[in-house]
Amino acid sequence: MAAATLARFVPRGTDIALVESDSIGTVGVGEATIPQLHLLHRALGVNEAEFVQATKASFKLGIEFDGWSRAGERYMHAFGPVGRASGLLSFHHYWLRAKGLGLAKPVGSYSLNEQAARKLRMQRGRRAARMHEMPYAYHFDAGLYAAFLRRYAEARGVVRHEGLIEHVEQDGQSGAITVLRLDGDRTVEGDFFIDCTGFRGLLIDQALGTGYEDWTDWLRCDRALAVPCANGGDFTPYTRSIARKAGWQWRIPLQHRIGNGLVYSSAHMSDEEAADMLLGNLDGEPLGEPRAIPFTTGKRRRMWVGNCLALGLAAGFMEPLESTSIHLIQSSISRFLSVLPSGAPDPAAIDWFNAQSDFEWRRIRDFLVLHYTANAREGEPFWDAVRAMDLPDTLSAKIDQWQGTGFIHREHEELFTEVGWFQVLAGQGVEARRYNPLADALSEGDLRKLLHDTETALVEEVGHMPRHLDFVQHLVNSLQSQEVLA
Ligand SMILES: Cc1cc2nc3c(=O)[nH]c(=O)nc-3n(C[C@H](O)[C@H](O)[C@H](O)COP(=O)(O)OP(=O)(O)OC[C@H]3O[C@@H](n4cnc5c(N)ncnc54)[C@H](O)[C@@H]3O)c2cc1C
Repeated sequence: MAAATLARFVPRGTDIALVESDSIGTVGVGEATIPQLHLLHRALGVNEAEFVQATKASFKLGIEFDGWSRAGERYMHAFGPVGRASGLLSFHHYWLRAKGLGLAKPVGSYSLNEQAARKLRMQRGRRAARMHEMPYAYHFDAGLYAAFLRRYAEARGVVRHEGLIEHVEQDGQSGAITVLRLDGDRTVEGDFFIDCTGFRGLLIDQALGTGYEDWTDWLRCDRALAVPCANGGDFTPYTRSIARKAGWQWRIPLQHRIGNGLVYSSAHMSDEEAADMLLGNLDGEPLGEPRAIPFTTGKRRRMWVGNCLALGLAAGFMEPLESTSIHLIQSSISRFLSVLPSGAPDPAAIDWFNAQSDFEWRRIRDFLVLHYTANAREGEPFWDAVRAMDLPDTLSAKIDQWQGTGFIHREHEELFTEVGWFQVLAGQGVEARRYNPLADALSEGDLRKLLHDTETALVEEVGHMPRHLDFVQHLVNSLQSQEVLA
């Protein structure tokens, strides 16, 4: 992603080298995204049909959380709006009022994305004038996506070096990185280095010693097992996240297989038990042995140090509960481009970058922690422990405000919007005691009509949408016929 974006945007005459080692390989997971990826693809000029074909992608309208509040209860964090705002107020205040009166259906009844997702439908653009477009993201094969972007980058002049970095040389005075020494006595010199070496953080940590902020007190899972399986079950235009005894399982359908994984706390579940649980809950034959990925949730204390920027797993890791890691790479790249150094990096720009990144990561962390802490799975040791844990102050304040007023405060550019928090707060059963009294300005009859009209308009719209499976096939076929699905 970094090489492709730099190749597209940095001024001519800038040489970009990419160092990768086949003997180390990539982590190979990371298959669910959020709609912001369109911004990257638009900037790069990626053709959607080509991308969907090359990466065996499917479409994603949201994430279903199954059993996160109680076993058997499900809700969705769907992309896009819920209901329609009326006057000054967000829809959720009307929903809260209606709920108190016993008139409201579950939140998802008022979300176009959720209604389409539940019916396994997909559409781009809008059909009815009064309807908004459905925001969507993708599921894709991470290895194929990396290869897709590599072709893009190499076609624009990026030079790839296959080899193992054995030593990182630094300037004796400034500490700046100067040279990477590769196996076979090769060297790669540079003015600026982007560390994409994964969890090991070869440059940012092993050479520059930036240190790590550990968040495992709040996000207690520390291992993942990943295994693809043959296609089976529904070809869902949504990711599934199913709560398990000491963590959760993901299900990500692609054109050629399903990606599965179990994220769990090793303090509450053995690797053997985790493997049995994962393999016992697949929709098709496993395509290989489960692969173990240990991790420590948190982030580098500083993601940009001197002439080195860390991206991806080298910058830090939060479990893929809301599919945020690939987005964090993208947003770091765009933040970096906004203060792209033309010579020695400016310390003020570095401080700004690090402060913005801290803010972005911490707010996402809070959102993930909410899913855990607001559970009602009583009697299960892992879930009891996370329900009782001390929360980050920023999260406590948000929950208090919701419970006391029904108001959701989105601070600055934090990634998850009011409507995302609303779906998860309501879905996890966190009750708001009040709503904004402006919602009382609507007569009860008008309130009923608002809910009814919203719901019926969505049902009608979804009824006209093609099936997700047909939509994908049509898009891929359109590459040959150059005919694009309207
Ligand atoms: C269990 C799990 C599930 C995930 N699911 C999602 C998801 O659904 N959605 C999402 O957005 N993100 C997800 N992620 C995150 C996502 O996988 C990563 O953000 C993404 O793959 C980027 O990884 P990376 O390039 O930073 O690291 P890696 O894939 O580990 O790549 C590291 C690179 O550095 C090279 N390298 C390392 N050391 C050397 C060396 N000494 N010499 C030369 N080269 C070297 C390697 O060859 C490799 O190319 C998930 C992560 C995990 C662990």
